[in-house]
Amino acid sequence: MEVTLSDGTLRQLRGTNVIVSTGTRAAVGAIPGLAEAQPLTHIEALELDEVPEHLLVIGGGYIGIELSQTMRRFGSKVSVIERNDRLLHREDPDVIEVLRSLFADDGIDTLLNARIKRISGKSGQSVSIVIEQNGTEKTLEGSHVLVAAGRTPNTEGLGLELAGVELTNRGYLKVNERLQTTAPGVWAIGEVAGSPQFTHISVDDFRVVRDNLGGGNRVTNGRQVPFCLFTDPEFARVGLSENEAKARGIAYRLLKIPMEAVLHARTLSENTRIFEALVELNGDRILGFTALAVDGGEIMSSVQIAMIAGLPYTAFRDAILTHPTLAEGLGALFSSEPSTVNVKVDENKIVSDVRDEAHLNARRATRGK
Ligand SMILES: Cc1cc2nc3c(=O)[nH]c(=O)nc-3n(C[C@H](O)[C@H](O)[C@H](O)COP(=O)(O)OP(=O)(O)OC[C@H]3O[C@@H](n4cnc5c(N)ncnc54)[C@H](O)[C@@H]3O)c2cc1C
Repeated sequence: MEVTLSDGTLRQLRGTNVIVSTGTRAAVGAIPGLAEAQPLTHIEALELDEVPEHLLVIGGGYIGIELSQTMRRFGSKVSVIERNDRLLHREDPDVIEVLRSLFADDGIDTLLNARIKRISGKSGQSVSIVIEQNGTEKTLEGSHVLVAAGRTPNTEGLGLELAGVELTNRGYLKVNERLQTTAPGVWAIGEVAGSPQFTHISVDDFRVVRDNLGGGNRVTNGRQVPFCLFTDPEFARVGLSENEAKARGIAYRLLKIPMEAVLHARTLSENTRIFEALVELNGDRILGFTALAVDGGEIMSSVQIAMIAGLPYTAFRDAILTHPTLAEGLGALFSSEPSTVNVKVDENKIVSDVRDEAHLNARRATRGK
């Protein structure tokens, strides 16, 4: 590899393996006027030394949502423009509706099903965005615009093509389940390898490559991908959502309680959020857990460990959990009356696939060693 340092010095590095870990950057799409408006990305937004008077946010995904709430709580007027019919459109509509209503309570304006037609002005001075929403054209005026509408992999200028490293049709490095690229000795980890876009997944990718370089056979398929959106309250999920279960034809029992059923939440004046779990129909294993709750990420992790261990949901139901903690709410959740959701498929086959999912990586990791 040839590397130019910041002082212009050229260095040549030689090794037996190369690991590409260059990540992604905010995508600035081909919306007329967007590039000329010099929009903030998350990088500039985090370096602002002023609170925007009115921030127009393009994109209602993780980054757009977190930064919208942050800026609103700093005192900015915020409008979020999302092209889909809900924020975080892949998540369950009922959960997202609660999140949207919390945004409304905060005074954040959410424009859904909105197509941006053109942008004029300059971020930091004044910006106007013309959108079409349900057949009607309207113009939004703001002081700043933040673009949070997807990511672009950092692959340019690396000479990947010279080394025979192929890209996918979405521009990410093509890798197999061991994270090997198409060029011998070249590996890829993290977002540039098209892995789910979370720090903990990039770290796990590192562990996969480390073990494989050490002679193991560790793979990425079948691993759990927990996540937490760091809004107030947090939105955390591990395993299947209802949307995913339905899309994959997996029958399940749904357990769901409002946070007011969690006694400690009441003492924290937290009362309108969600705790829900999917349990397999013909067994007791937990397929998924979602929290829209104060400390939701922490609570999710304890359910995740139970899922990895293959514990039945009855372990939570029957456990003596300390009163008053938020985790005590898991006892209330798993004691609640389930509703059953049937789907027309060979459920035994698919459910057993899902049931094994949590164990697959552990088994593969062990095999790798
Ligand atoms: C605003 C924001 C909030 C987030 N919050 C969370 C969160 O709460 N939890 C979570 O799990 N994830 C979060 N993420 C996602 C998380 O940051 C990424 O998934 C993670 O950083 C990806 O790791 P990576 O190693 O693939 O890439 P990166 O962390 O992006 O690292 C890539 C590095 O490569 C460098 N690089 C690029 N090209 C070159 C080159 N040609 N030569 C040398 N160096 C190069 C880059 O400068 C960068 O330092 C967030 C992301 C954003 C944008």
